[in-house]
Amino acid sequence: MINSYGYSILRNPRFNKGTAFTLEEREKYGLVGIIPDEIETLETQILRIQEQLESFEKPINKYTYLMQLLENNETLFFKTITSEPAKFLPLVYTPTVGEACQRLGHITRRPRGLFISIDQKDNIKTILKNWPEQDIRFAVVTDGGRILGLGDLGINGIGIPIGKLILYTSCGGVPPEHTLPIILDVGTNNEEFLNDPLYPGLKRKRIRGKEFDDFVAAFVAAMYEVFPKICIQWEDLPGVDAIRILDTYRDKVCTFNDDIQGTAAIAIAGFISISRLMNKKFIDQRFLFMGAGAAAFGIADMLVKKFERDGLTREEALGQIWMFDVNGLLVSSRTDLVEHQLQFAHDCEPSDNFAEAILKIRPTAIVGVSTVGGAFNQQVIENISLVNERPIIFPYSNPTSHSECTAEQAYTWSKGKAIFASGSPFAPVEYQGRIFTPGQGNNVFIFPALGMAIFATEAKRVTDDMLLTASEAVAEQVTTADFEKGLIYPNVNDILKVSIKVAEKVAEHIFDGGLASVERPENIADFIKSKMYVPSYN
Ligand code: NAD
Repeated sequence: MINSYGYSILRNPRFNKGTAFTLEEREKYGLVGIIPDEIETLETQILRIQEQLESFEKPINKYTYLMQLLENNETLFFKTITSEPAKFLPLVYTPTVGEACQRLGHITRRPRGLFISIDQKDNIKTILKNWPEQDIRFAVVTDGGRILGLGDLGINGIGIPIGKLILYTSCGGVPPEHTLPIILDVGTNNEEFLNDPLYPGLKRKRIRGKEFDDFVAAFVAAMYEVFPKICIQWEDLPGVDAIRILDTYRDKVCTFNDDIQGTAAIAIAGFISISRLMNKKFIDQRFLFMGAGAAAFGIADMLVKKFERDGLTREEALGQIWMFDVNGLLVSSRTDLVEHQLQFAHDCEPSDNFAEAILKIRPTAIVGVSTVGGAFNQQVIENISLVNERPIIFPYSNPTSHSECTAEQAYTWSKGKAIFASGSPFAPVEYQGRIFTPGQGNNVFIFPALGMAIFATEAKRVTDDMLLTASEAVAEQVTTADFEKGLIYPNVNDILKVSIKVAEKVAEHIFDGGLASVERPENIADFIKSKMYVPSYN
């Protein structure tokens, strides 16, 4: 008979410790001689990982190496990521994950997550039960329809739920055994993939409309039957589908969409910290959006709630938010606006010149969600600087080439007055002898902590108020010293510390609102910490 027990432990990423198995464990599991005698610590193992990673030049190769590590030794993987988040997050998530998704059919060594095709619509429960873990609490789900700024990547979009859930664990402490990445395969309109023999998804055009919605409905019903405590986070669905699916399920089950709500929450965290650090009331901020699509609507919708939370009526709140799209300023006389845009259309003269609209509306902040690189031109930046002592300039379109302006343009054209944050990262800028550090509205400060609070409290719903509580908790952690350096968000290397505080505040809000399924503990901070995953061999 072959003794394979030790061998199978060594090949199980959850239990594998590699060269760190103790002598007792080696003897117990029959591992003596299977691994070298020297017993290493987790720290020594990380040194080896670091050295091996250095040998790869391209981020994509580092990504592949790290994904293999995740398949080999989960504890070592998460300990490595949390040792220096600012260095490792860009390797396991954006921007590297974008390229990984584009090439996933070619670089995958072992599939990860669940692949549910529309052909399996009547078989979804069986597929969910095939997953080895039973107590799944958090699923990130996409149909690959609009991956980052890269468009339709079909089932190769699975890289996004995988990456996002790594962030839930490493930045928020959600235990990995309770997480599940899922791709819904409804075909792809990506011609390159349709002609690629190594594309592993359905090789047919994407299914849309009622058939798609029925599939999603069957999926959601099966999820709650098999995993009754599940929270579903939708990710990278095309804009209209994203809004419709969120609206359909948000009041029925525990679900949210990070592209819409997480993006809005982190943008608002930035506006809150700016207002606080400038000693300005939030309700005195006025916003002009360039772009009136899904991202603009998500941010604006949550801004209305924040204004209401701070004492404005809905009408007053709407009066502080203006939008401009490809056809000009949203005004009541326009006949081309869709339902969700109408509320942001004001009684005002039409305008097709954004720079001129700034002088008329006098916003304190301009937010770029138009996908048009360079749309905040010199005139735009000069005009917003003319009507504000410290103009708030947020070009939020991704990727970097679509950013409405660069950090350098914002600081230079505003003569160093701009308070800047973007969707894509920009390097620090030197202007007239001063170094300005651009902010990046990175949702990672919101969703992992929100996820941890939902996981710990077994929350029944995800409300915008929970997200706003997260925004306020993130903003609270920005110091005056940070602001002087130009920072409006905390440091990414402090992510775990920040997330614990955010998760506490959100959990408190969940208990106060009666949305928890567990009893309120004496001490919420200790409660959250007790539920958190800590990568360790003990
Ligand atoms: P969308 O296609 O739904 O909306 C684009 C909007 O821009 C439309 O209203 C369109 O009319 C308008 N527009 C196009 N050209 C314009 C022009 N020349 N002048 C003014 N307006 C113009 O797209 P979306 O889903 O809302 O995404 C918009 C951008 O926001 C994308 O680049 C996306 O990457 C970014 N986004 C960023 C984040 C983030 O985390 N930073 C999250 C979600 C979306």
